[in-house]
Amino acid sequence: MSMMRRRGLAYAKALSMVTLSDAAAMTNDFVEIRDAVARLCTDFPGHYWRERDRARAYPTEFVEALSAAGYLAVLIPEEYGGAGLGIRAAAAVLEEIHRSGCNGAACHAQMYTMGTLLKHGSEAQKREYLPRIAAGNLRLQAFGVTEPASGTDTSRIRTAAVRHGDVYRVNGQKVFISRTEHSDLMLLLVRTTPRNDVTKPTDGLSVLLVDLIEAVGNGLTIKPLATMMNHATTELFFDDLEVPVANLVGAEGKGFSYILDSMNAERILIASECVGDARWFIAKAAAYANERQVFGRPIGQNQGVQFPIARAHVQTEAAALMAATAAQLFDAGETCGAEANMAKLLASEASAFAADVCIQTHGGYGFAEEYDIERKFRETRLYQVAPVSTNLILSYVGTHVLGMPKSF
Ligand SMILES: Cc1cc2nc3c(=O)[nH]c(=O)nc-3n(C[C@H](O)[C@H](O)[C@H](O)COP(=O)(O)OP(=O)(O)OC[C@H]3O[C@@H](n4cnc5c(N)ncnc54)[C@H](O)[C@@H]3O)c2cc1C
Repeated sequence: MSMMRRRGLAYAKALSMVTLSDAAAMTNDFVEIRDAVARLCTDFPGHYWRERDRARAYPTEFVEALSAAGYLAVLIPEEYGGAGLGIRAAAAVLEEIHRSGCNGAACHAQMYTMGTLLKHGSEAQKREYLPRIAAGNLRLQAFGVTEPASGTDTSRIRTAAVRHGDVYRVNGQKVFISRTEHSDLMLLLVRTTPRNDVTKPTDGLSVLLVDLIEAVGNGLTIKPLATMMNHATTELFFDDLEVPVANLVGAEGKGFSYILDSMNAERILIASECVGDARWFIAKAAAYANERQVFGRPIGQNQGVQFPIARAHVQTEAAALMAATAAQLFDAGETCGAEANMAKLLASEASAFAADVCIQTHGGYGFAEEYDIERKFRETRLYQVAPVSTNLILSYVGTHVLGMPKSF
């Protein structure tokens, strides 16, 4: 990372202390980072994303530009070559990417998988991987949890790792695992003790760091899985894949608690992307509502057009506040499961609503590819399902926050 970039990020770190208590200011904090990210995004205008979307191609140039500028390493401590900032800075980066009309889905996983390695990885693992990730020479973009048979019930995953001397042999299958074809490393959740042999169903799960370059063709097969948006998602098939025991992250059997940390980070960061999307849709809709003349007046003069856009704004700013609160708690090392989940639910609903309103405001033009609205509409719709669907968040709030009985 360049000296200037490092100084800019260090300044942002100092600034973060000043604004810590001001929740409203936090929804637009890290102004320097936001401005710089927005400038970088101008090199990747709508036609860049449209072409990749049509070809279902990975936005390599965009990811390389973000890596070179150090933005994907904001969470890596300075001693390992990163910026040493918190989740709020990472959220500002991702929100600004989405607010600029770009899509962080090609690379956001590096930010939330990082937490597992940082908090639970050994010093040797951190020294081996983090400096190269910070320098942009190694990509940790894949997070393998979901399986066809287990669905949202992670405790029922069947992909198993059995220890043979210095290696684990992994067998099983994963589905919807994104970016595996564009990543060097994957954090993989496996079962190391059968579910029937543990007291708590979530015990006996472990996290392995898989070297994807070595694994493909040696026990791992990757099959692309086309989805409604360009998301580089795949199915994975494990057939006696050997993973060194040295690649176990933390203690065997404790993997579920490790990925919970990552999941809170993931929820906060996805919420920030949704806030960015929503702000993009709202700005676009308001501008068009002011400019488009029908029946001799701007369509935005009609309250039937104006009010939904105003409502989208209200919902988005409320979601931004919840996301900022969750991020503040996360950075302070406090419990933030409820806030991270609520932020993700509010923001994903706000962005989906804003997307719908933006299409409606544009009439037929909302469906024309060149306006980018239909593409971003498809992209933002994902976040009510993945990662973690709205119902599962409501279940979490109903049972963990409000103390009602669990349905499963
Ligand atoms: C584009 C894309 C990218 C993805 N990338 C990744 C990735 O990189 N890594 C990864 O591990 N996973 C990834 N996923 C998987 C994603 O996290 C899951 O699809 C999501 O968590 C939902 O799981 P499922 O599809 O198995 O749905 P299911 O668990 O089968 O649920 C189906 C529906 O039923 C509802 N439901 C289930 N149980 C209950 C209940 N008890 N009460 C109320 N409602 C319930 C759910 O809310 C959902 O709406 C991705 C998915 C997509 C589509």
